[in-house]
This record gives sequence, structure tokens and C-alpha cells, in this order.
Amino acid sequence: MHSLKKVLLVFLPSESGVDGARSLYSEKDDSPLFSWFNHSLRTMIKKSQFAIPPLSLMILSSIEVKGVQQSICDMRFEEFPFHKAWDLVGISVQTGMAKKALELADTLRSRGISVVLGGAHVTLFPESCKPHSDVLVIGEADDLWKEVLTDLTTETLKPLYQNDNFPDLERSRPVLKTSLIKNRYFTTNLIQTGRGCQHSCDFCNVHVLNGHTLRRRAISDIVTEVARFKENDHRIFFFVDDSINADPSYALELFRQLIPLNIHWFGQATTMLGQQHELLDTFARSGCQALLVGIESIETLSRKVHKKNQNKTGELALAIKTIRNNGISLYGSFIYGLDGDTLETPTAITDFINDTKLDVPGINILRPIPGTKVFDRLREEGRLLFDPLDITAYRYTFGQEMLYRPKNIPLDAFIESYSSLTKQIFTANKSIARGIKAPRAKGAVLLFNLFYTHLYSLSRHDLRLQLEKNPIKKSILPYAE
Ligand code: SF4
Repeated sequence: MHSLKKVLLVFLPSESGVDGARSLYSEKDDSPLFSWFNHSLRTMIKKSQFAIPPLSLMILSSIEVKGVQQSICDMRFEEFPFHKAWDLVGISVQTGMAKKALELADTLRSRGISVVLGGAHVTLFPESCKPHSDVLVIGEADDLWKEVLTDLTTETLKPLYQNDNFPDLERSRPVLKTSLIKNRYFTTNLIQTGRGCQHSCDFCNVHVLNGHTLRRRAISDIVTEVARFKENDHRIFFFVDDSINADPSYALELFRQLIPLNIHWFGQATTMLGQQHELLDTFARSGCQALLVGIESIETLSRKVHKKNQNKTGELALAIKTIRNNGISLYGSFIYGLDGDTLETPTAITDFINDTKLDVPGINILRPIPGTKVFDRLREEGRLLFDPLDITAYRYTFGQEMLYRPKNIPLDAFIESYSSLTKQIFTANKSIARGIKAPRAKGAVLLFNLFYTHLYSLSRHDLRLQLEKNPIKKSILPYAE
């Protein structure tokens, strides 16, 4: 008879943002007061539970196989439990954290623990991950994971698990929260409604990883899951779907059925929602408090070059005002530094935010992620500032470093204009004003704005150092000139 197999699923922290709002440079360079302030703020941010659980690991840990016990280790909150015995450790590898993930895999394997690697980075770059693993899972693992666990019980693990097709999300796969420590997170009421995106924005890897076909979970499965989660967790719900309103009739039926459950929820949508009046009304009536919308750019040329085609620039402001007028707060994310942007773009962004009264603006720098079309193009054009093969260079940061040379703006002028843009938009007074004026979720809007006021000050600090620090200047020269 086989003994119970113990499997640990690991999620790693990124080096910045909500996982640890810290400078990319040694704090030795800072004054003791600045270091103390940053450390205290970091602790406060972590304790205020901005973090949300790793959804993919929630999904995998919900797959039950006789003879296997699964746990989750979220290294944003805890150290790896080396003192316990594990039959298999699965690590979710994202490009921004790939170096740490592969180092951990090497350490575990040197101690005789079998390691399975999966996630976005493994799917895009299996060959570079292979030497660090016993098992690779390529692509969405919903169906493959059961096979991995079953093979573990019979000690017949294969080196590679891969699907030819994307999993059919209409097949019922109930998600359990038993592997999570609930009070660590902003909410554990995280529910995926679908995957895939019809669009092809060149800076995004959603369509690369999840395909262009919209795949949706069955409405009855989602409604049952919401009711089950709500029984013992009354916190806000978060619906994860990059384009929930891309299929308006599906979304309309889903959120109609959720109205009687009387929940409050956050989610993501495209600004098209401002033109989908019946759906917008249903969102509001089903308890929608706030939505994240990807505005990305208000420059027509940038939208065209980067294939952000789904909304026209002229319709954006009206759509945002309409959504807010229906009582839903908006987090709108912009990218500054796209190929149609100029030094006039920051003024256009500021005017847009003032005009629409956007509740939480997110002002990002373009981050070319390996595996996206924009990464390939910038590499071909010689505009990347770091070695394209160095996976550690393309880490996740919060507007804290330039990874490429903008097309129309010299690097130093770009950094100066980006810094002045974030300084103008994020102040304590403006944060308070946005919190007060938000249609709903006023507390969350205030907290996010205050948090960003701090994060963007880190961004300005780090960008200045990137320009000043000689070693970084030298390291970018071979790729930049
Ligand atoms: S940015 Fe949004 S709309 Fe564009 S491809 Fe990605 S998910 Fe789709």
C-alpha cells in the first residue's frame, strides 16, 4: 500500500508593488530616516492585506486525488518549510520572479525533493526551465494536474505534461479554499469566470498564454461557487476575467443571477462597458463596487501601433464618465512611453484624469515582457536596455526602471517627464479628494491612492538612480547604442 503523498504548491513574491514596496537599490544609499520610514510603510502595506491569493494554486490545490495531500506555501508571507518532508513541490514561475523560482528549484532538488515547474514563464520558455526541474507542466494545468498527481501516487511521474488544446472551462471544477490561510488576504472570494482575449495588444501576454478564444465557466458553477464562498466569508468578491464584458449576453445572464445573492464585488472590464447600458446597469445592481479598466493610451497613434484597437480614443472619456455615473468606481491603468507618445502625452493624461475624475489612475511605464510581440520588436530595433537573454532583467517593478528606450523621447527627458507626471497626479490631498468623490468603495480608493503616492515616490527615486548609477549605465550600453 502506498503512503500519503505530500505535495506543496509554492508562490513567490515579486520584488516590488504590493508584495513589498521597496527600492530596487540598496537602502545603504538612503538616510537612516528614509530607510526607517520605508521599512515601516512596507510593513503597514503588507499588514493592510492588499495581497490577493494565488488563484492558479487555489485551482490546482482543489483537485482531489486519492492518496495525495496538497498545501500552498505563499512565500509573500512565510518561509519555505524545509523542516517538513515533501514528495513533490510545484512552483509557479512568472517571468518577473523566474530567477528566485529557479534558484529555489535547484536548492530543493539538491536536497532530493522532486520539483515540478509550471506557470507563464515555463509555458513561454520551457527549454530554459527544463534543467531546473524534474517535471515541467506547459500551458494551463487544470486537466494536467490530476494526471501529475495520479502519476505521483504510482511513482510514474513523466518529465513533461502538455496539452494540445486549452482546457474546456465549462467542465465543472469546483474551487476550494481549504489550502489558504484566509486572514492573510484582502479577500479569498476570488472567482474566475473565464479566460482568453480576442484582442492582440502587443504589450500583453494574456492572448499569448490563454488564446484568442473566449472560454467561459458555466454560469451555474459560478453562482454555486459564490453562494458556497459567501457562507463563511462575507468579504468582497473579486471576479477574475480579462474581458468579462466581451461576451455581453453571457455577462448579463451571470450578473442577473448574482443579484439575489446580495454580494459586493470588484472586477475587470473594458471601457466598452460604458456603451453597454443594460449590462452596466446589471453590474451596478449585482453589487459591483469598482472595476479595473485598461485605458493604456489616449494617443491614437500609440493605440494603433500597439494594437489596442477595441475602443476609439474619442469614446474613452465618455465611457468612463458613464460607468462612474452608474455608481461604479474605476481604476484606470495607463502606459506612458508607447511608440506614439511624445513629451505632450503627460499633459494629455493629466487633462484626461481631471476631466473624467478617474478614481485611481495607474500610470505605468511600458514593460516589455519576454514572450510578447513588443519585446521581440524592441529587441529587433535594438531598443532594449538590458540583455534580452537575461531573465533576471525583466523583473516586475512598479514604474521603477526603464527596460527600453522610448521611440520619440530621449531617455533622460522621458524619465524627467514621467517623474513629473506621477508627482503631479499623486499627492496626499489628491488621494483624499479622490477617496471622497469616488462613487463607491471610497475607503479602498483612498487607500490605493495613498499607497500609490508612496510607490510613485519610490519610482522617482529609483529612476533617478538608474540614470545616475554607473554600473547600470555601463550594463545597458551594449544593447542601447
Ligand atoms: S491588454 Fe487587455 S484587451 Fe489587450 S490583449 Fe491584453 S487582456 Fe486583451
